[in-house]
Amino acid sequence: MTQTTTPVRPKRAAKPNGQWKIDGPAPLNATEEMKASDNGLNVRARIEEIYAVNGFDSIDPEDLHGRFRWWGLYTQRAQGIPGGKTATLSPEELEDRYFMLRVRIDGGALSTEQLRVIGQISTEFARDTADLTDRQNVQLHWVDIVDVPEIWRRLESVGLHTTEACGDVPRVILGSPVAGIAKDEIIDPTPVIAEISRRYIGNPEFSNLPRKYKTAISGHPNQDVVHEINDFALIGIVHPELGPGYDLWVGGGLSSNPRLGERLGVFVTQDEAADVWEGVTSIFRDYGYRRLRNRARLKFLLADWGTEKFRRILEEEYLGRALPSIDPGPQPTEPGDHSGVHEQKDGKFFVGLTPDVGRVSGTKLTALADLLESHGSYRLRTTPHQKILALDLDESQIQDFVGNARALGLEAFPGLLKRSAIACTGIEFCKLAIVDTKNTTIDAVKEIESRLADHEGKLPKALSLHVNGCPNSCARVQTADLGFKGQLITNDAGEQVSGFQVHLGGTLAGFENGEASLGRTVRGLKVEADKLPDYVERVVKNYSAHADEGESFAA
Ligand code: SF4
Repeated sequence: MTQTTTPVRPKRAAKPNGQWKIDGPAPLNATEEMKASDNGLNVRARIEEIYAVNGFDSIDPEDLHGRFRWWGLYTQRAQGIPGGKTATLSPEELEDRYFMLRVRIDGGALSTEQLRVIGQISTEFARDTADLTDRQNVQLHWVDIVDVPEIWRRLESVGLHTTEACGDVPRVILGSPVAGIAKDEIIDPTPVIAEISRRYIGNPEFSNLPRKYKTAISGHPNQDVVHEINDFALIGIVHPELGPGYDLWVGGGLSSNPRLGERLGVFVTQDEAADVWEGVTSIFRDYGYRRLRNRARLKFLLADWGTEKFRRILEEEYLGRALPSIDPGPQPTEPGDHSGVHEQKDGKFFVGLTPDVGRVSGTKLTALADLLESHGSYRLRTTPHQKILALDLDESQIQDFVGNARALGLEAFPGLLKRSAIACTGIEFCKLAIVDTKNTTIDAVKEIESRLADHEGKLPKALSLHVNGCPNSCARVQTADLGFKGQLITNDAGEQVSGFQVHLGGTLAGFENGEASLGRTVRGLKVEADKLPDYVERVVKNYSAHADEGESFAA
């Protein structure tokens, strides 16, 4: 009897992921084609020579919706377009003829001269808008393309720029806002931030990455740069034999498939930090996935490789040497937002000021520059918590300065909610937004704080409240005690209204005393935007009634 065998079907070759080192450089989607056909950095010449001269209608759509980002420019949302139901609109219907312009501030370090220039640009060219972002940038709105070359000229005259403020590039480098001034600093990251910026920002070798690439560097024990959600992070640590240096983290990121970064277990010295940045960023450029945009961040490669393989490739293929190993350092015990008044290592003081969810204005920034200088201070920092630190104040000036800053709406001693509330751009200007964020949060915080006034002493030590205008995570909702993600929801009357999906219990090191963890989506728990104060009040009062002494909110 002859035996019949089932033919073995040949194994289908796995689809290429668009990894340059493995699959070659052929573009696998429209965005990769756009990037391959002309480097995003090259659009600057066209903006200066053609688009700013001939106006908005002269802009090539591929530049408008692609390469403009490489210079910090996005079209803003057309006014009056309601949230949701925008899928049927063409880009022309959804977008305005004006731009958001992101000013890149590596390490958040500004002089009062630079602050004044940003303030004046805002009042002259951006209808007095200015938002401090949670990545230490300043965003302006209502910018007309014809004014962009003059804005660049003014920014660059004081050492500021918008290079690679958006796009598939190394974005702004988050840096400890107290770098070089904190009494308890482990190591000052200022030289590393400057070196990375000098060598690699605006460098065509690193201006076509698979996706955005976020860097954070801090030498402060509070770990004040939300390092767990960055692609590359260096956190100050002391090696028992080699002294102060950094602990390397890679592969953090939110939005789709949120994932906290992981330690590679290596010690990086100050001198080799920029080379290590180059090595990790080169891995991302060469091995990162480019086929699907929503699987392109470094976190997906790390998830497939694991930390052991990632470290081996870094050391063997890119650095040509092994890095020393190091065990984890201690967890921070204080919030990393630097709110309030603190003594610097030189005996002067810095003051952490909180505006309402990062919202300021050109007028306010100019007034702050005047205020600082009138108190003998010429330096400030922006922070990843949408705050401003005023540096170098004499102790005798503090009381007067704090009072005058309060009159500008910048609070040194904010209430629990105002201190930790952050909100993304939202429906005012963002084309992806579904709901309003800034004004909703400002109003909600005021209302909640007044309702909780008689609960002083029973409230948690820290409570983060983050509000996003859509399912993306620009305001880091998964890392907040109370995270709200904008969406349309159906109210009791069956109407579609602005609301939020609730996330609970997220935390990052540096804001709570404990391990970082991502918050959980509470299925079915949605809150109408105008009922946000009721919901938060209920949750906080419930916490106050049941928490044990010293128990954090996230616990
Ligand atoms: Fe826009 Fe959404 Fe980001 Fe908010 S979270 S800024 S609405 S993309």
